[in-house]
Amino acid sequence: MSRRVPFDAVTDADWSNWRWQQSHRLRGLGELDHVFGLTDGERDTFVRSAETFLVSVTPYYASLSEHGNPNCPIRLQSIPQAGELLTYPFELADPLAEESHMPVPGITHRYPDRVLFYVTHNCPVYCRHCTRKRKVANPESASTKDEIAGGLDWIAANPEVRDVLVSGGDPLTLSDDRLGEILLRLRAIPHVEVIRLGTRNPVTLPQRITPELCAILRQVRPLYLHTHFNHPRECTPEAAQALRMLADAGCNLGNQMVLLRGINDDPQTVLELNRWLLKQGCRPYYIFQADMALGITHLRTPLSKGLEIIKFLRGRISGMGVPQFAIDLPGGGGKITLAPEYLVAREGSELVFRNGKGEDYRFYDVEP
Ligand SMILES: *Cc1c(COP(=O)(O)O)cnc(C)c1O
Ligand code: SF4
Repeated sequence: MSRRVPFDAVTDADWSNWRWQQSHRLRGLGELDHVFGLTDGERDTFVRSAETFLVSVTPYYASLSEHGNPNCPIRLQSIPQAGELLTYPFELADPLAEESHMPVPGITHRYPDRVLFYVTHNCPVYCRHCTRKRKVANPESASTKDEIAGGLDWIAANPEVRDVLVSGGDPLTLSDDRLGEILLRLRAIPHVEVIRLGTRNPVTLPQRITPELCAILRQVRPLYLHTHFNHPRECTPEAAQALRMLADAGCNLGNQMVLLRGINDDPQTVLELNRWLLKQGCRPYYIFQADMALGITHLRTPLSKGLEIIKFLRGRISGMGVPQFAIDLPGGGGKITLAPEYLVAREGSELVFRNGKGEDYRFYDVEP
């Protein structure tokens, strides 16, 4: 395998070892500059934003970037840009009011039947667009053993919870043993019918998907695994192999893309991404409108962009490749989905629909 400078001297054994990747994450200005070739503005922003939200990039993910290209989608997701320092009055530290819907620490209970369960606040790469910046990467907010035990007890005591989404941070940051304990405990709760795992490791640290981890996941299958690919540049042989191993372990794979300005706000890019995902057995589940989180307004797109992308996909890829376009409403309103408008006229029971090619078709509705 030929890797680019400065990773060309790393042995294959180290490179494919997730612990090596984790312990060699790029965090300092000097090493980031060496790999990415930072601009003056990025160096300045790095220094000024260091307090707000840590920078951390696995060597693997950094190696996917294009050195010196300020518009590289890998770079824009991992290196702070000047916009991160700007704050607006409408931005929220906790945009989804996750803290105020917590019956116990570490659980967000917003819908009657399902919960989010945070088991760690660490991730291999800190995505610049993260909605949970207030917690993620903050060592003082780490989930403790007691907190996780308390969360499991709460789920066991609340039979209306049928669906548990294990999240973070990134749950695969935990050791196999720790994660295995949590998943097996959940599986042993009779009313928990659905277990989901939200993880970006297939994208940022695919080496983490080992046969040992898969053996644990296989014990709790079926498991729904939501991952977070945002751009075709992330679609590598390593990522494909990680997805294949997860599918073989009984994971039902779904992707939650976040729509980001200058990164993937382009229909052709999303089409290419979704084609690759389907080929790997991973269904595009959601495209999320970026939240009103602190310091990410420069990455947000107008709502019309998401609708344009959904409309473009329909007809060019199977329905399985057309995700739902969702907004998670600020203040804890929950998720809603938006769809393009195909109905262009209505006269009584006669409806006129316009398809993707711009052609009109009449449809006669019946009385309710
Ligand atoms: C997103 C979310 C879920 C899961 O929602 P689905 O639409 O079922 O994927 C559950 N709980 C909370 C609090 C959420 O934000
Ligand atoms: S992997 Fe998820 S939780 Fe972690 S920084 Fe990225 S978006 Fe945030």
